[in-house]
Amino acid sequence: MSFSSLGLESDLCQHLTSLDYQQPTEIQSQAIPVVLAGKDLLACAQTGTGKTASFVLPLLQLISQAPEHRAKRVRALILVPTRELAQQVQQKIDLYSQGMNLTSLAMYGGVDIAPQKQQLIEGTHILVATPGRLLDMMHQRAVHFDQLTHLVLDEADRMLDMGFIEAINKIMARLPEQKQTLLFSATLPDGVRFLAKTAMQSPQEINI
Ligand code: AMP
Repeated sequence: MSFSSLGLESDLCQHLTSLDYQQPTEIQSQAIPVVLAGKDLLACAQTGTGKTASFVLPLLQLISQAPEHRAKRVRALILVPTRELAQQVQQKIDLYSQGMNLTSLAMYGGVDIAPQKQQLIEGTHILVATPGRLLDMMHQRAVHFDQLTHLVLDEADRMLDMGFIEAINKIMARLPEQKQTLLFSATLPDGVRFLAKTAMQSPQEINI
C-alpha cells in the first residue's frame, strides 16, 4: 500500500517520503480515502497509530484544492482535549503542509488570550483548539466560521471525560450545517456514540 494509491497528490507523497514515512499505517490506509471522498467518519483508534496524519493529510489536500483557500478564513476546526495535544497537532500540520501556502493556529487556555486573538484576526485556514478557550473566543466574536467546511473531534472520549460536552455542543451549534465531520476516539462509550449521532449522519466507521 502506498500513499499515492490512497489518493494523495504526488507533491504530498514526495514530502512524506522526505519525512521517511515509507508507507501508510493501518488507520491511514482506511481513513484517508474516506476523508478525501468528503464523507463523515467515526474512527476508533489509539494514539500512536498515526491517527493525526490520517485526518491532517487528506484535509490539507481538500483545503488546498478548493479555490476558497486563497482567503485566509477558517476552513477546518480541530477540537482537542488539551493544550499539549493542540500544540502537537498544530506542529504536525505545519510539518505536513510545508510548501502548501496553508496556515494553522493552535488555541488553548492557561495562557493570555490577547496574542491568540491577534493571531486569529490575521487569519488562518486551520484552527486547532481546546473547547473552553474556543468558546471564550467565540463569545468575544474573535473567530468566524462562515467558511468552515471540516470539523474534527479528536480524542473525543478524553474531551467528554474532561467535561467538555457542553462547550462542544455550544460550538457545534454555531458552525455551518453543511460540513464534513470526523470523530476520533480511543474508546466508544455511550457518550461518544451519542455525540457521534448528534454530530454526524451515517458516518463511515473504522475500528483499529
Ligand atoms: P499519532 O498516532 O498521530 O500520534 O502518530 C504517532 C507517530 O507516528 C507520530 O510521531 C508520527 O510522526 C508518526 N507517523 C505517523 N504516520 C507515519 C507513517 N506512515 N510512517 C512513519 N511514521 C508515521
